[in-house]
Amino acid sequence: MRLRSISLALMLALNVSGPARAQELRPDQAEFRALYKELVETDTSVATGSCTLAAEKMAAHLRAAGFADSDLTLFKVEEFPLDGGLVAVLPGTSRSLKPMLLLGHLDVVNARREDWERDPYAFIEENGYFYGRGTSDMKAMVATWVDTLARFKKEGFKPRRTIKMALTCGEESGARLNGAEWLAANKPDLIAAEFALNEGGGGRTDGKGTVLTQAIQVGEKSNRTFEFTTTNPGGHSSTPVDDNAIYELSDALVKLRAYKFPVRFNDTTRVFFAKAGAARKDDLGVAMMALAKNPADKAAEAVVSGDRSFNSMLRTTCVATMLSGGHASNALPQRATATVNCRVVPGEDADTTKAALVAAIGDPKVDVKLVGRLRPVAVPPPLDPRIIKPAETLVAKYFPGVPLIPTMSTGATDATYLGAVGIPTYGVPGGWGDPDGNGTHGLNERREVKSVFVGRDFLYDLVKALSDAK
Ligand SMILES: [Zn+2]
Repeated sequence: MRLRSISLALMLALNVSGPARAQELRPDQAEFRALYKELVETDTSVATGSCTLAAEKMAAHLRAAGFADSDLTLFKVEEFPLDGGLVAVLPGTSRSLKPMLLLGHLDVVNARREDWERDPYAFIEENGYFYGRGTSDMKAMVATWVDTLARFKKEGFKPRRTIKMALTCGEESGARLNGAEWLAANKPDLIAAEFALNEGGGGRTDGKGTVLTQAIQVGEKSNRTFEFTTTNPGGHSSTPVDDNAIYELSDALVKLRAYKFPVRFNDTTRVFFAKAGAARKDDLGVAMMALAKNPADKAAEAVVSGDRSFNSMLRTTCVATMLSGGHASNALPQRATATVNCRVVPGEDADTTKAALVAAIGDPKVDVKLVGRLRPVAVPPPLDPRIIKPAETLVAKYFPGVPLIPTMSTGATDATYLGAVGIPTYGVPGGWGDPDGNGTHGLNERREVKSVFVGRDFLYDLVKALSDAK
C-alpha cells in the first residue's frame, strides 16, 4: 500500500493537472488568458513601452469587476509620465488585522524584434508554452494578482484582512524611477501592510515537465560596491621603482581573491541547506545537510562552497568587476582603481564588509571606499509559520511529494524597499520555471501553459487562505 501511494504521488507530481490548450479552457480561464495576453502585448520596456498604459488597463479590468474608483489609485511622477503604476484595495472585514499586500512589477527588460524568433510583444502559444517578453518575469503573476482580486470582487468574497495590490514600474531597469521605492517613500500609508507577497519563489522542473521543488523566497542579500584606490607620485617609466600604484592595487586584488568571508547562516538558509540537501541524492547534498547541522564542519564547507550559487548563499561575497589605472604608456602610474562588487548577507552591512576587506588587504595605502546609489540594507523577513504553513499545505495539495524549500536570493529585488519600511516580503511558490531560466531577461522568453494556469489556481487559494486567516 505504501509503495502504491508513493507511486501515485509521483505520478501526480509528473503530471500536474492543468489545461494544456486554449480550447480546453473554462470561461474564467479564457478571461484570465485574455488579460494575460493583453498585459504581455502591452510593451512596458523602459526603451519603448509604457507602464502607465498597462496600469490603466489593469485598473479598467478591476473597475469592470466592480471595484470603485475610490479603491483604485493610479499614480505617476510628473518627470516620468510613462513609469506609472496602480494600487488597488479590497477592504477586509476585520478592524484589528493589518492588510496584506500583493506586489508586482509591470515593466519588462528591453527586447529587440530582430534578435527574437517571434515578435516579443506578440503573445504566442506554441508547444505547451506561452511566448513573449514578460510571460515569465513577471506578467503571469501580475495577471494572476489582478484576476484574483477581480474574482474575489465578483464572487462577493469578503476577506478578514484587507488585500492591497501594488503594480509598479522600474524594477528591471531602475533607470528612471523605481515604483516600489517611490511608494515606500511617498505613499507609505497606501501600501502599509503586515506582509507582502512577491515574485522570487516558485517551482523548478527537471527541464522535461516534472516539478522537482517549490521555493518560497524569504530574504535576500544586499548589493554594495566599493572602490579600491592606490595613488603614487609617479614619474618617468624609464627609471622605475618598486613602489607602483598598479602593483600595489594588484597585490590587494590577489588578497581579495584569496579571502573568503565566514559562513553565516540565518533561519532561511539553515532550512534551505537541510531540505535542498535532503532532496539531492549526491555528495553535495550530504555536505549541505552536514553543514546546516554544523556550520564549523570545514570539510562540508569546502564541498558546498564549490557550487557557485550555494557558495553565495553561505557568505558575503566580494569580487573585482572593473579596473583602471595609469595615464600614459611611458609614465609610472599615479593612480589605479578597482571596482569591487559585494553581495552582503543579512546581518552584515557596508561597514562590517568594508572592515573585513580592509583587514584582508592589510595595506593602509589602499583606500577602500563605498560607492554608488544605495538601496536600503535588506531586512530578512521571519520564517513566519502563518505564511509558511498555508504555503506548505497548498504545495502538498497541488504537488504531492514535492518539498517547499525556503530560499534566500543572492540578488536584490523590490522586497528590499518594502522590508525597509517594515513590510516583510515573501517570494511565493506556485507556478514554475525550467532550469534554463525560460529566457527571462534574455531571448524568446516563455512560460509553460500549465505553470500559468496551475500557478493561478495556487495563488488564488494562497491569497484567500492568508487573507481569511484569523
Ligand atoms: Zn521580475
